[in-house]
Order: sequence, then C-alpha cells, then structure tokens
Amino acid sequence: MELHTIRARLTAGILNKAERGELALSLPVGLVRDELEVVHKDPNREVTDRIDLIFQTFLRLKSASKVVRKLNAENLLIPRRGRWGEIVWRKPSVAAILSLLKNPAYAGAFVYGRTRTIRTGPAPHQAHLKRLPIEEWKIRVNDKYPAYISWSTYEEIQAQLQDNYAEYDRNKTRGIPRPGAALLHGLVYCGECGHKMVVQYKGSTRYICNYLRQQYQVPVCQYIPADGVDRYVVQAFFDALSAVELDAYTKAVKTIQETDETIERAHQQQLERLRYQAALAERQFNQVDPDNRLVAAELERRWEKALGELKQAESSQAQRQTPDKVTLLEPELKTALMTMGQKLPQIWSSNVLTQVQRKALLRCLIDKVVVHRLQRDHVRIRIIWKGGDNTNLSMPIPVGSLAELTNGEELEARIVALAGQGCSDEEVAEQLTAEGFRSPMRLTLLPSTVKRIRLEHRIFQQRSQSHPRQIEGYLTVPQIAKMLSLSKHWFYDRIHKGMIAIARDEKTRLYLFPDEPNTLTQLQRLKAGHIKHLRFS
Ligand SMILES: [Zn+2]
Repeated sequence: MELHTIRARLTAGILNKAERGELALSLPVGLVRDELEVVHKDPNREVTDRIDLIFQTFLRLKSASKVVRKLNAENLLIPRRGRWGEIVWRKPSVAAILSLLKNPAYAGAFVYGRTRTIRTGPAPHQAHLKRLPIEEWKIRVNDKYPAYISWSTYEEIQAQLQDNYAEYDRNKTRGIPRPGAALLHGLVYCGECGHKMVVQYKGSTRYICNYLRQQYQVPVCQYIPADGVDRYVVQAFFDALSAVELDAYTKAVKTIQETDETIERAHQQQLERLRYQAALAERQFNQVDPDNRLVAAELERRWEKALGELKQAESSQAQRQTPDKVTLLEPELKTALMTMGQKLPQIWSSNVLTQVQRKALLRCLIDKVVVHRLQRDHVRIRIIWKGGDNTNLSMPIPVGSLAELTNGEELEARIVALAGQGCSDEEVAEQLTAEGFRSPMRLTLLPSTVKRIRLEHRIFQQRSQSHPRQIEGYLTVPQIAKMLSLSKHWFYDRIHKGMIAIARDEKTRLYLFPDEPNTLTQLQRLKAGHIKHLRFS
C-alpha cells in the first residue's frame, strides 16, 4: 500500500473511533480514566473543588485575568498535570486558566478536531495550528465524561471570552456617567474587536469603535446608531425590573456567597494537604536509620521544607481578610424596585429624571453592552447583567438599499408573487410586514417600496383592484376588517401566526371568509380572547 493510502486508512480508523467517542484522548486535570477505561472525576476533592472554583469565579468576574488576580490574592494554587501525569500545584497563569475554560471535556463533551493546520508554505515552520469555532469541530459527542459545567454554560463562557478578546486594561474602567444623549456611554463594547466604543455626535448620535483606527490607521471598525441601541436596552431594563428577573438577581448574589464559601473551603483543603505532607515527611525522617546520613539529611531537608510551606500558608490564612459580604436585595428594596418597574416606563419619558439619573439607574443592573453588526441590516445586542446573565437582542437598522437587506431577494420574490396575484400594494405591505419583512430605511414594509418593486417588474394593477373586491358568498379581509372595526393588519398578523387558520382561495389568491353571521361572531370571540384559534376551510 502506498504511504498516503495507509495514512488515510489510519485517519479513517481514528475518526470512526472518535465518532463513537471511544478514542482514549489524554484527559485534562480533574478527570481520570480507570483500568476499565471509564472516565471519572478525580477522587481528590481538592482538585475537583479547585476546578469548580475556577469556573465559578470566571462566571462571576467574566475575565481570565481577573480569575488569576483573585486566586493570587487568595494565595490559592491550581492543579496541573505534571510530566508523568501526576498532579502538581502551580501558581495560576492566564494561559493555564484559559486552556481550562476552553476545554470542552469539562462540559462532559468528547471532542476531536478542535484545530486545523494552516500551511503558508511547504517548509515545516510555515505551518501553524488554528483553533476552529465550535461549529467546525470535526467530532463532538456530548455527555461522554462526568461534567463540571453544563454545555450551555460552556457556550456562555466561550461567548464571554470572545467578547473579552483584545480588551485592554485601559478600557475596563466604565467611567462615570456624563450628561449627553447617549445613555450607554462607557458601557458599550465593540463585538467585532472587543474594544470600548465611543460616542460621536455628528448630526445624529452614534456609537463608534475607532480604537483600531487610532492605533493602526485602519478604517473605523463599526458605527451604530445610538438611539436604537439605547431604546432596546432601556426596554430590556424595564423588563428586568419584573419579579422574575429580580429573583434571578437574588440567585446571582447567592452564587457569589456560595463562591466565598468555596474559597474558604479551598483554603482549608490546601492547609490540610500541607499538614499531611509535613506529617508524612516527619514520619519518613523518623523511620530512616540515623546512620544513613545522606538519606537522613535529605529527609530532614524535605521535612523542614514541608514545615516551612505549612507555616507560610497558616500565616497567610491568618492574615486573610474575610471578603466583603454581598448583600441580598432587602425585601423592601425588592418591592420598591418592582413597583418602580411598573411605573418606570412613564417616569422615564417624563422630565422627572435627569439624564444622569437615567444613566445611573441603568448602571445599577447592567454591566456592559456588546454590540455587533453581524449583518448589514441587523445589530446583535448582548446585554451583560450585573448578576452575570446575558440577554441577546437582534436590532434591525436602516440600510441604503434593498440589496443590503439580508432577506432582500426573498422580499422581492414575495412582492412579485403577491402583486401578481392581484393584491394591492397596501395589502402586500401589511401582510409582509406581519411576516417580518421591512423597507430598507424603516422597521415596516411601506406600500411605496412594494409599488417601486412591482413597477420594476412591470406588474400593473387594474383600477378595480385598488378597491376592496366583492366576491359572492364571501367576505375579503378588507371587508371584514371594516365590519368589525379592526385593522387589516390585525387579520394578516393572526393568519401569519396561525391563530386564524385559513387558506388562500385558488382563483383569486385572496383570503375568503364565509359570508355568514357565525364568521363575525367567532372572530369577535377571538378578538375578546374567549378562544385562541379559529379554523375556516
Ligand atoms: Zn471594534
């Protein structure tokens, strides 16, 4: 067999095994494989607890370097694999914490092919490993190992690390609120490169990311209209002031308290290990024949070293300050916030609150806001709440032309189809708005856009069709809407959502309701909320 055939077969064999999750890949610290090849958590509680602590701390502090700082401040070491696979305790480094946070094995997943070799030339040094995004991993089998975190937590952590990417210390201070239109000034970060965005007042207010331009003279990363982002975030803030969300906040605070307890336990475990090591060294020293001087001297040195480490740990434990207690929301404050939550939308738009007060209120619950123009016409807004939860929103933003709309081609095709079936521009606009389409510059689809596209395709309407049509024995949407004093949009919206089940008439391509009293009665009951669904066939 030729060499490349052999290699291909070997690779295929490995991939087959990997697909079943049976490939015995080397395991990260905290997971061990027994003689029967079954993977368990390490029986050493200090190891597993420390890994739990690292994840908990990251979920709270949101950055790997902060985790390192926290552990160093507490004088806590982290477990690593030594040269022979044994556990060694080391001072934490950012790289070590990052590799732990990024390792899917801790989420219980067996993964193969997380990297790809990129070649820039034929020489060996012209190749480097590139980390692939989760979607491009060759093989992933979930729930293969005992998990330290859930898969969704793992994904949350990866998103957070992405957001932190290239975020520099000088950007981390959120600054104090300044008067000005942009409410989120100082809280907004660029989802493209991770830098803090600044406010630009130029006709309208925009959040712009010009860090890379200032540093490297490259074009502005992205700019996003501030008003829209502010509106979305403020709405999410109002929603957050509901009872459910405040409960989530309480839960988050509880987690912080639990983390403090875990840290305390970690200290105790660290002390216990050092005490054991000192006692062991002492026993070994006592057992050796005193005449065997070389060995006795070495054992005495080890005993002293163990005692020294123990003493140091004990004194640093004695000096350790108990962490500031994070307080739960007092029941009265919680009630106040909930009541305020109901009234806030009205107070917000009145002149009772100053802009500075509004900004301060937002900062009570919001840690930061990451905006990312993932598509030309949509901005992803990720709100990171104080407790650590994330909210993801998708905000449509104006674009210059139909071609820049993500679903522009689909929109054009739907307009051509509906107009060809004889629907008026207004009807098409209403129905397609209900389905989520819009004009490039607006949040809804305008009849004028429909008309422009229709004329481009040389579809002309007969005069009679711009008036509501009369069909014997049936009622059209415009007719029935008029009779019930409802908007046509109300009908198209409910038809689109499936609350009114009705098919288009084959010939006229219109929705035709039977012209009988029961139709109106049923629709009225639907409107009043007495029934949830209606079917016409
Ligand atoms: Zn940027």
